[in-house]
Amino acid sequence: MDFARQRQQMVRKQLVSRGIWDQAVLDAFEAVPRHLFVGEAYQDMAYADTPLPIPAGQTISQPYVVAYMLQALRLHPTDRVLEIGTGSGYAAALLGHMVQQVYTVERHAELVTYARHSLAQLGCGNVQVCQGDGTLGWPEHAPYQAIVVAASGPSVPEPLRQQLAIDGRLVMPIGRPHGRQHLICLTRRSETSYDDDDLGEVRFVPLIGQEGW
Ligand code: SAH
Repeated sequence: MDFARQRQQMVRKQLVSRGIWDQAVLDAFEAVPRHLFVGEAYQDMAYADTPLPIPAGQTISQPYVVAYMLQALRLHPTDRVLEIGTGSGYAAALLGHMVQQVYTVERHAELVTYARHSLAQLGCGNVQVCQGDGTLGWPEHAPYQAIVVAASGPSVPEPLRQQLAIDGRLVMPIGRPHGRQHLICLTRRSETSYDDDDLGEVRFVPLIGQEGW
């Protein structure tokens, strides 16, 4: 079966059937070729319901989990979004399809190169990748209307709280590397107050850095 058909099936069987309703999220998953973000050895499995290995011992998350996180961000086309943990670049490409501008930070230089290559191949001109410790955010382009963290930390790093716009949303897994982790969604209500929601149990690689593990 060709990749476009596999993508349509992924959207129907893995996302719509499990309650993903945000049409902008579904459109992005139908448009962005996940097989270009995994190594050749995994291309046949690119649209399967599972995370897959990428270089530097990291993983590209399960499609459903990414969709759930993107839906929770309540994105608008005009948003400026920060992602921590570029990994393969797949989630950044989905974001690039949905919003105006995406900034993404990855700590492994090897993955920065890997992600930039796929993003350039797809012409994702509104996605900028930088190497660094994402627990410190990317202050130059703040504030962000949405922030998504793709690795699990001990708590929400203070720099990320500060770089979130008022009314902005932040989605991130919190919990120990091999223990219980919960996905949380923070909404900034004012200069000093945030609401938070628990979106359920998840499993992510650890967030390593100054404000991480
Ligand atoms: N969004 C990715 C999934 C990446 S997995 C995708 O679509 O493929 C999480 C990534 O977070 C890993 O690549 C890991 O190296 C990175 N990471 C962990 N701690 C980090 C930190 N402090 N700053 C930036 N990236 C970090």
